[in-house]
Amino acid sequence: MTTIGFIGLGVMGAPMAANLVAAGFDVTGYNRSPHKVEGLVTAGGRRAESIADACSGADVVITMLPDSPDVESVVLGGDGVLATTRPGAVLIDMSTIRPDVARTLAETAGRHDVGFLDAPVSGGEQGAIDATLSIMVGGDTDTFASMRPVLDALGSTIVHVGPAGSGQTVKAANQLMVAGIMELVAEALVFLDAHGVDRDRAVDVLSGGLAGSAVLDRKAPAMLRRDFTPGFRVDLHHKDLGIVAAAAREAGVATPLGSLAATLMASARAQGHGSLDHSALLLLVEQLSGRSGE
Ligand code: NAD
Repeated sequence: MTTIGFIGLGVMGAPMAANLVAAGFDVTGYNRSPHKVEGLVTAGGRRAESIADACSGADVVITMLPDSPDVESVVLGGDGVLATTRPGAVLIDMSTIRPDVARTLAETAGRHDVGFLDAPVSGGEQGAIDATLSIMVGGDTDTFASMRPVLDALGSTIVHVGPAGSGQTVKAANQLMVAGIMELVAEALVFLDAHGVDRDRAVDVLSGGLAGSAVLDRKAPAMLRRDFTPGFRVDLHHKDLGIVAAAAREAGVATPLGSLAATLMASARAQGHGSLDHSALLLLVEQLSGRSGE
């Protein structure tokens, strides 16, 4: 049986770790706030009291943490993943972080004889619960092939997109697109409301045409109910649009609509909506339009 150390049991990590247990892996989980490990223990996994405790007996270590500095400290710290994982094991970072940080982690892991994949995900909390995530993987081909059974327990669309860092580059493109489409869905809902149209029916018909999208299908119903429970927090999408901006600048690429979406996401955060789902862009569009939405 493959033994997995899982670090970061938040909105995404908790259901992902439970799915690994359900698939037959021996999973030991660690989270900085210890109460978040309880779900994994109930699902049949084990509790680790430290990063070292999660990593020392592991064949595979998975990290699912908020941001680049979190992953760097957990992986590179004194009692961190690379200091406590045995040579020959594989680290899969599934957090969304900067591509250049992923490349550096891959190099450092290599010096410890630990394999590395950057494998960020898309599909949200529901995709994590249903094990239907899209997983975009960077790293070497052999490591990818050897980790396929682990990734298969977490997602339904799993693609090796290139060398280390590539998974994060593809994820940045994903976040660029989702932000833009989310903003346009929000604008369309406010526009429809202002014209007195039945928005449930409008969303029904729009979803079958060229404007149909996963964002519209998955987010519009909750937006119409004004339920902004995360899901994916505005704070995290703001972080991701910073990653997009830096990577676009590095490549000399113009992303005019993406830049505007980033400004709007930053504004949603500044308005106090950082801990709401990113569909709370609706609140910002309502405010800009002088409409309460209630
Ligand atoms: P989250 O904040 O719910 O979970 C992160 C977890 O990491 C928390 O439980 C936190 O306590 C823990 N943590 C933070 N620092 C730690 C440390 N030093 N040691 C141990 N544990 C630590 O975030 P999330 O929504 O699960 O997202 C995780 C990652 O996945 C992020 O990079 C996010 O951008 C990405 N992501 C999220 C979604 C989503 O819909 N929520 C979708 C795709 C990708």
